[in-house]
Amino acid sequence: MSYDKNNIFAKILRGEIPCKKVFENDYVLAFHDINPQKKVHVLVIPKGEYKDLDDFNIKASEKEIVELNKAVTHVADLMGAKDRGYRALTNIGSDGGQEVPHLHFHIFGGEKVGKMVS
Ligand code: 5GP
Repeated sequence: MSYDKNNIFAKILRGEIPCKKVFENDYVLAFHDINPQKKVHVLVIPKGEYKDLDDFNIKASEKEIVELNKAVTHVADLMGAKDRGYRALTNIGSDGGQEVPHLHFHIFGGEKVGKMVS
C-alpha cells in the first residue's frame, strides 16, 4: 500500500488542520495527542511521507533517521519526562494497531505508564 496523502497527520503537516505543537525542525514535528492516554502523550512524526517505521527505515535518508530518533529524546526532555522515564512506542500496520498511516512515535510519560501490552 502506498502512502495516503490524505491521512490526518499529512493534513497537520500541511497546516490544513491544527495541532498543539511541542517541537518542530526541518525534519520533525511533535504535537500533543488529541486523545491523551497518559499525563504526557505526545506524537513525534517525520515530515517526510512514510507510512510506518518499516517504510521509513527502508526509504528515509540517514539524516532523517538520526533526526527522528534525536527528536524522541529531545521531546521527552521538553515534556519533563526524560529523567523519570517514559515509553516511546510506534504501532505498525494492522496487527500492530496502527490507526494513522503516517509514521509516528507516541511518547507516554509524566506518570507510570503501566503494562507494555494488553
Ligand atoms: P496509532 O493508533 O496510529 O498508533 O495512533 C494514532 C494516534 O493519533 C491516536 O493516539 C490518536 O488519538 C491520535 N490522533 C488521531 N487523530 C488526531 C488528530 O487529529 N490530532 C491529534 N493531535 N492526534 C490525533
